[in-house]
Amino acid sequence: MQFKETDRLLIPSPSHSSTRWWSEETVAIVTGANKGIGFAVVKRMAELGLKVILTARDSERGCKAVEALRTQGLHSIIFYRLDVSDPCSINTFASWFKENFTALDILVNNAAVSFNEINENSVEHTETVIRTNFNGPKLLTEALLPMFRTSSMSRILNVSSRLGSLNKVGNPNIKQVLESEKLSEDDIEGIVSLFLEQVKTGTWKTGGWPELWTDYAVSKLALNAYTRVLAKRYRGRGLSVNSFCPGFTQTSMTRCKGDHTADDVAIVAARLALLPPDNIQSGKFFLWGISGGSSTSNNTLVVPPSYDLKINSIMISLIW
Ligand code: NDP
Repeated sequence: MQFKETDRLLIPSPSHSSTRWWSEETVAIVTGANKGIGFAVVKRMAELGLKVILTARDSERGCKAVEALRTQGLHSIIFYRLDVSDPCSINTFASWFKENFTALDILVNNAAVSFNEINENSVEHTETVIRTNFNGPKLLTEALLPMFRTSSMSRILNVSSRLGSLNKVGNPNIKQVLESEKLSEDDIEGIVSLFLEQVKTGTWKTGGWPELWTDYAVSKLALNAYTRVLAKRYRGRGLSVNSFCPGFTQTSMTRCKGDHTADDVAIVAARLALLPPDNIQSGKFFLWGISGGSSTSNNTLVVPPSYDLKINSIMISLIW
């Protein structure tokens, strides 16, 4: 794959007072946060002193998660129910947020589903996967856009996957559209509709789509593309929008297999979401946490993660 940009980014530790731009009034929303990476990100952000809204589709699971964090002394966390696959739930959540908060600083679109075991590739649940992993974060983002604080740099971090990288797309026409500087939201919707249509007609296998976890990969491909389009729309207007792949992480999604824990990922994700305003990126796809050291696989540049999470910076790769 010809990446337009390949770089490494040193992320400063948020515990350095010189890079700490936020206060206890800084508000972050994290979706799908009753467990896994979302839960760990809420915990990390609360430890760093932000006000965090932990959302989950199930109230009982969400409240239990908040309770678990409160018993650890983290009291700046508020729960609200949010099912990102349900437009009504998104509207209710956005209205509640508007009534109760003056502004939003950070949105972490983390919630996602995959119905495949690691070596499977069924598309039986494609509609749910696309609705949850792509339509949901997009609708939620659009509903919350008017709420982002304009007096400082606000941030959206879309938790994505390298399975949805451009180099996984075999169809040159689709790739060309996605790589174009003129990429639009309509183009992205068109590509997603084409995939859904091919799934319906049973022709998707020869469509040149990503070969691993195809429905999930297409949902993340679309999310990455939306990240780029939105970043462009808001360039110079105080909103940074990036995607982030956490790497193979021990959560329910991977049946607890993986190279690192959700807490490890949360340290990196929080650092990315809290980059100092003078070091901020937008429209990028950050990759982190690849096992096996530095190598090149499937034309994707890989960079070894630093597992010494106490150091002042973490090396990740930045690809778009
Ligand atoms: P988990 O399955 O542990 O967590 C997923 C979370 O999303 C759960 O809280 C789940 O809630 C929630 N969720 C699912 N559907 C909805 C919905 N409709 N509305 C709101 N919340 C929902 O997975 P991870 O923590 O691993 O995944 C977090 C993110 O990281 C995802 O975006 C995933 O794609 C990404 N990722 C993960 C990798 C990994 O190796 N683990 C690798 C690359 C990316 P519930 O408990 O109710 O199901």
